[in-house]
Amino acid sequence: EALAKIISMCAANKISKVLVGQHGIFSTPAVSYLIRKYKADGGILLTASHNPGGPDADFGIKFNSANGGPAPESVTEAIYQETTRISKYSITQGLTVDIDKLGTSKFYIAGIGDFEVVVMDSVDDYLSYMKELFDFKSIRAMLTGSDGKPKCDIIINALCGVMGCYVKRVLCQELGLPESQAIKCVTLPDFGGEHPDPNLTYAAELVESLKAGPYDFGAAFDGDGDRNMILGKKAFFISPCDSLAVIADNLECIPYFNKTGVKGYARSMPTSGAVDRVAAAKKIECFEVPTGWKFFGNLMDAGRLSLCGEESFGTGSDHIREKDGMWAVLAWLSIMANKRQAGPEHGSVEAIMKRHWSKYGRNFFTRYDYENCESAPAEKMMSNLQAMIDDPATVGKEFSNSGKTYKVAKADNF
Ligand code: ZN
Repeated sequence: EALAKIISMCAANKISKVLVGQHGIFSTPAVSYLIRKYKADGGILLTASHNPGGPDADFGIKFNSANGGPAPESVTEAIYQETTRISKYSITQGLTVDIDKLGTSKFYIAGIGDFEVVVMDSVDDYLSYMKELFDFKSIRAMLTGSDGKPKCDIIINALCGVMGCYVKRVLCQELGLPESQAIKCVTLPDFGGEHPDPNLTYAAELVESLKAGPYDFGAAFDGDGDRNMILGKKAFFISPCDSLAVIADNLECIPYFNKTGVKGYARSMPTSGAVDRVAAAKKIECFEVPTGWKFFGNLMDAGRLSLCGEESFGTGSDHIREKDGMWAVLAWLSIMANKRQAGPEHGSVEAIMKRHWSKYGRNFFTRYDYENCESAPAEKMMSNLQAMIDDPATVGKEFSNSGKTYKVAKADNF
């Protein structure tokens, strides 16, 4: 219903061409790539993540600009200002497009001109791009093994989100993952009644199958495929902050970076400083930015950033202008395939992570989400915290727990 209205409104607003995914399905990273590849002026994304809108608060609309990334604040603010004074809108009546059928439909809109809608395969373009960035042959060799016995057994859960068709095409068809290890890969409008969030709480089914099963690697994606969670054997958890640092330390395992070089790293402010340690050791520039992928996009467009991530399970690079869940999985599999060359025990998720900690030290990260709280006590807590941050005596102060003493190095409010 929303897609039909948006297409009809595009026609009435002199947009000449609309690309739409078959069945209305594209992942967010795929949209970012398509905007860039086809030099579109922007993209409209309908996703459930983060933006409760629509009649049942399960619907969000996002606008990405011509660089493929989330619109900058100047654009979203201008859109908001427009909503405060809108008095009419234009829509073309009687324009129908079958979005389940691949192909191009051409229309002539009276008083406006030609209008074209192209229904595209959801995965084709994205898949060929991933093949340019990664060495599919070495990942496939690891996942399938020469004797038909996989050297690395993986399980993937798409949580009934948009990633189902990407998992099936990229991981099953191209890289040899058995379909039986591609879980919840049927995209459902209500995500099967669950919450498609790739974390230990909402992806508990994946955690359980790794704990119980023989799998060496597991991953889950969120509803629109931009976020990811990485787990190792027996559900060894990789925090998103550590995932970023490990990838940063091993970019030479990914053909794309051997071509482009490593321009810089970045993390959002609340993400742990694990990547900073890698940057310091490699003498590569590292940035701290506010939360929101658009801030990474600025640095990428300026040619200063190759790899970045957020503690909220987002990882990505300058190959597009969004975080990219499948990209993160392929990055980890590339690193594992590379490290296995020194012996299979070197290529496990846990071995890679522990080696990283012993080389760089370990940053512990924690995040607390408080939901549906009463305002007054919550505000009191926040003002207490702010007072503590503002107090010059906080830095250098020592706190002890369980026989260990910790000293505050820095406290700030993002
Ligand atoms: Zn998302």
